[in-house]
Amino acid sequence: MIDGLEAFFESRHRGVAEELTRFAQTQMNAFASAHDDAEARAQTPEAVRLMGRAGWLQPQDSRTLCLFREAVAAVSPLADAVFAIQGLASVPLRLSGYDGPWLERASRGEAVGGFAMTEPEAGSDVANIQTLARPDGDRWRLSGRKWLISNAGLADFYVVFARFEGAEGSRGIGGFLVEKEAVHFVGPQVLSAPHPLGQLEFRDSPARLLDKEGFKLGMRTLDTMRVSVAAAACGMAGRALNEAILHAKTRRQFGQSLSEFQLIQAKLAQMALALESSRLLTYRAAWQRDQGQQRNTREVAMAKAQATEQAQFVIDQAMQILGGKGMLADSPVEHLYRAVRALRIYEGTTEVQYLIIAKGLLS
Ligand SMILES: Cc1cc2nc3c(=O)[nH]c(=O)nc-3n(C[C@H](O)[C@H](O)[C@H](O)COP(=O)(O)OP(=O)(O)OC[C@H]3O[C@@H](n4cnc5c(N)ncnc54)[C@H](O)[C@@H]3O)c2cc1C
Repeated sequence: MIDGLEAFFESRHRGVAEELTRFAQTQMNAFASAHDDAEARAQTPEAVRLMGRAGWLQPQDSRTLCLFREAVAAVSPLADAVFAIQGLASVPLRLSGYDGPWLERASRGEAVGGFAMTEPEAGSDVANIQTLARPDGDRWRLSGRKWLISNAGLADFYVVFARFEGAEGSRGIGGFLVEKEAVHFVGPQVLSAPHPLGQLEFRDSPARLLDKEGFKLGMRTLDTMRVSVAAAACGMAGRALNEAILHAKTRRQFGQSLSEFQLIQAKLAQMALALESSRLLTYRAAWQRDQGQQRNTREVAMAKAQATEQAQFVIDQAMQILGGKGMLADSPVEHLYRAVRALRIYEGTTEVQYLIIAKGLLS
């Protein structure tokens, strides 16, 4: 994973990358293909437990976070998503100085977390969140609905974003911790690539305030995790490229192997270009964050937009090279084809990344 990108790494990262490749191939391959929502839900706590036991849920530098997601996404998009959500739930606890038991339990893989920001009427427009928070002694009570929430119905705790009663705009949003007993699980929202997603309802649910500046807390969390979405996209694209190369070398048509046709060679070259340029942007952004440049929102946006869009292209081309076989339900490329789609949408759509990049250009 590091070859050709040495400028962005320290020597210790090579050992980390090798260890991660081993971990992904020996322990995460059990989660390579959940067939439906129920199976994905059953596998999630076990994947969290294995990651926690191996120490991967402890705080990591940005490059290690990316190496983890690249290695694991290549083997299991579900396990990759599980890791990402555990990060989205743990980072705000850490950033807000939370001192309760959930952070430690989540880091050891003993508790599953959730990050509940999106609502039916507030997706990209996070500042429009309507879930209400009202004070109740030294605690808070939340009322409202969240949807498209990963680990909904599974998580032991959720970091929830809600609006203080009577407050407006992004400054009126707080970040809260809500334990699972206080949340009503409305039901799953089923995706074509199994991933435990669903709706939650808060009915005067007791909550603990983590940060009065919840909007900033959410954005800082996304700033930390977003670059790793790009890395996950690289992992999926890299796997698809490998599958395509293997197939092109072994499949014969018209008396030749596919790899001898120049049209196939051009596809492979374009796929490699797309992947390598994505990896350069991804590890540049991760390296910048590790150098203390925490406000590299523009570079992170570039990495996410490029890597996720290009991964979709690479996987689509891989499927084309595999022909009909690539579309069969047990084909890894078919699974990647469905799984990669969400990466262009969650943690800020591609259009939102373009807005961030353009804002920088025009300011
Ligand atoms: C697999 C998956 C897992 C998810 N997990 C979570 C989770 O754990 N927690 C959570 O809180 N959310 C989660 N989400 C929700 C995700 O963050 C939202 O789907 C995303 O932010 C987009 O919001 P939306 O779906 O409401 O789309 P919308 O915001 O309605 O956008 C629809 C389209 O309009 C475009 N658009 C919107 N605004 C603009 C604009 N100003 N200019 C140009 N185009 C614009 C968008 O780019 C998009 O193409 C998840 C989503 C998916 C698919």
